[in-house]
Formats: sequence, structure tokens, C-alpha cells
Amino acid sequence: MPEYHTTQSYANKLDEQDPLARYRDLFFIPKSEKGKDCIYFSGNSLGLQPKNAKEYVEQELDDWAKLAVEAHFEAKHPWLPYHEFLAEQMAQLVGASPFEVVVMNSLTVNLHLMLVSFYQPTATRHKIVMEDRAFPSDQYAVKSQIKFRGFDPKTSLIELKPRPGESTLRTEDIETFIEKEGDTVALILLGGINYYTGQAFEMHRITQAGHKRGCLVGFDLAHAAGNLRLNLHDWDVDFAVWCSYKYLNAGPGAVAGCFVNERFANRSDIPRLAGWWGQNKETRFQMGPDFEPIPGAEGWQISNPAILPMATLRASMDIFSEIGMEKLRAKSERLTGYLEFLLNQQQNDRVHIITPEHPGQRGCQLSIRVQEEGMALYEKLRANGVACDWRQPDVIRVAPVPLYNEFMDVYRFAEIFQREYHSIFD
Ligand SMILES: *Cc1c(COP(=O)(O)O)cnc(C)c1O
Repeated sequence: MPEYHTTQSYANKLDEQDPLARYRDLFFIPKSEKGKDCIYFSGNSLGLQPKNAKEYVEQELDDWAKLAVEAHFEAKHPWLPYHEFLAEQMAQLVGASPFEVVVMNSLTVNLHLMLVSFYQPTATRHKIVMEDRAFPSDQYAVKSQIKFRGFDPKTSLIELKPRPGESTLRTEDIETFIEKEGDTVALILLGGINYYTGQAFEMHRITQAGHKRGCLVGFDLAHAAGNLRLNLHDWDVDFAVWCSYKYLNAGPGAVAGCFVNERFANRSDIPRLAGWWGQNKETRFQMGPDFEPIPGAEGWQISNPAILPMATLRASMDIFSEIGMEKLRAKSERLTGYLEFLLNQQQNDRVHIITPEHPGQRGCQLSIRVQEEGMALYEKLRANGVACDWRQPDVIRVAPVPLYNEFMDVYRFAEIFQREYHSIFD
């Protein structure tokens, strides 16, 4: 356990010693009503805008203006292979080879595409295992896919619940379930980090357990990409999907990511929804009728991609590449640990952090359960210039992001939290 202290001068010292402190300046920090920097702890919903984003977009607008259709070949960053410029950086970020990664579509769309390919139910093996209360879009997608294959979510969807009285799942309980029931399970699909509890699942262990019982294993990394150190290839994950508007700061509705393990790279027999952008690049423009997919993740592309949102993603990924997840994660553990320390120090009866304590089982987010009046407390936080969110029924989510949050943000947040807690409950 690292040591922390409660004084303001200690927060200052942490900021002075922070080797990543200067990166905050690369982002636009929204102002509160009083004109001060707001305490932005909503990077788990929408990451802040990198100041370089405009320049990257303008480059594409200029190339469009000057070159029009020729920009596919002649632009500074030619549009035809534009998504390839991102593959290397994305691959680094999630621990994969560029061959296994593609940037395309949006998150839930990619999840559907992966389910089409990797959920192949049979009469005896038709179940999908998810965590209880997964993000709603994932639940809808999975249920609709189960029905689409002629099965019934009531019998084919298994949602793993924490033990009574506990808020998060124990890895050993997940493993035990897979060990026992695995031969009826077609696919295990968990969030890398659950959006509500902030729990990070132990992806390597779960993947191993699933493979041992013949299940495929995929992850929704919406809350994990740009937050955790990931090693999808070495963990032997089958597929993964993520969005890039949360921790990856690529802007609202930005283009999403997708990982397909290289084991499947040349499996043209796997069912998939095809489109011309997944067609072998040698023959794509021969405009022939027969689909022959590009080997690797790129073969799952359907349409020619949206260049402007990929430009903002490049702007952000250039920052990630410069720093690397290792350093970001080191700061993140310290920043979130400090927040946890200050909140625990306050000893407020109605407050309980449901996110696991172990840094290996969480990212930067803490989910703070507040008994009764939690919503009122949340409103007070907002009125004090804190950007965080409220998730029904009883959780305030706060995500100090190591790329642009500082230790003083955490200090100020804890101070406001304590003051407003007492104003409501005393
Ligand atoms: C944010 C999030 C989504 C949102 O899906 P979109 O398709 O990007 O709108 C889906 N699933 C999870 C787990 C998320 O955290």
C-alpha cells in the first residue's frame, strides 16, 4: 500500500513530482460557472478534446478542398489506407499485432459483427455468459443475436451475479462456473471493466478457463482501452471491441476498435457480414462479384471509413503513443489510490466504494455507492464544478484520468465531497 497524506501541500507535491503533469496542457479543460477549471472526472463517458484535434481534422478538410477524390491517394495522409495509420498505434495500446486490429464503425456495431462470426450456437452448446448488469447496449445486442439464431435468451443467456452481500464478481467464482458449465457455453463475453462497478476482470485467467472448456472468449473494452494495460494477443483472447470516445479522447461518436485473434486471420470459412472494404486489396477495385476477405482483422471491414472522425482519433493516439500505457497506468494507480485514501479517511457512514480495492481489479474509476440521497449529493457535486455521473440506482461514478487530471483535482473533489455530504446528512 502506498502512503498518502491528507494535506493540500501533499497534493501539490504529488503534482510537482508527476512526470506526466505537462500533458494536461494538451487538452481543453471545461470551465465551471465560476470560471475555474472544472474537476473533470467524466473521462469514462467522454474524454476531453486534445488541442491538436482541430489541426488533424483541418488537414483532411484542406486535402478534400484541394484534391477532392484524388485525396484518396494524394493527401498528406492518403484516405485509401487511412485506417492503417491507426492500426499500429491501436495494436500497441491493446497489446496485439497490427494485423489483429482494425478501426471501424462504432462499438455496438462491432460487437454485432463479432457475434455474427464468433457466436455459433449448437443444440448442446448455445449459451453466452456475461456479467450481471452489463452495459445495456451489450445486453440488447447479445439477446437479439441469441434470438436471431433461433434460441431463447431465457435459456441461452447466463448472467453471472456476485455472491449475496457482495458487489463484484470473484474471479474464482467465474472460473468455477466455467469449469462446471463450460461445455454448454458457446461464448464468454465480459466487459474488460464493468461500467457500473468499475471492476476490471482478470482477462487472462478467464480466457484460459474458457478455452480449457472449449468456449470462445471475447471482451468489450469500452472502459478498458486507454485505461488498463492490455495484452490481448498474449492472453489469447479471441476477439475484443472498444469505443474511442471514452478514455481514448477521440470525440463524440468516434470510430471504434476491433481485435480478432490472428488464429482466425485466414479463416474465410467463418461466417461474417461482408462488404467491399473487407475485400482483398489486390482485387477490391476489380469490382468482381466474389468476396475474398483480407487476412486479419481488416477483413471484417464493411464500408469505406469516415476519415474526419479517424483524424481526431489519430490526434489522440499520437499522444498515447508518445507516453505509452505503462507510464499512464503507473500514474493512474497512484491517482485513484489517492482518491480512495481521501474518501476512506472521511469515514462517512453512508458512503461505500464498490469498486474493488486491488489495483489489478480496477482501472481509474471508482464507483461510490451512497445510501439514500445519493442523487442529491451528486447534484451538489455538479453545482460545485465537478463533472461526474450518477448511475441508477445508487452510484456516483468518478474517473480521475491520468492523462489530464491532476492530484489537486482529487484533493479538491474530496474536499467538496466531504462538505456537501455533511450539508445533506448532518
Ligand atoms: C459506452 C459503452 C457502449 C456504447 O455503445 P456505442 O455503440 O458506442 O453507442 C457499449 N457498451 C459498453 C460496455 C460501453 O461502456
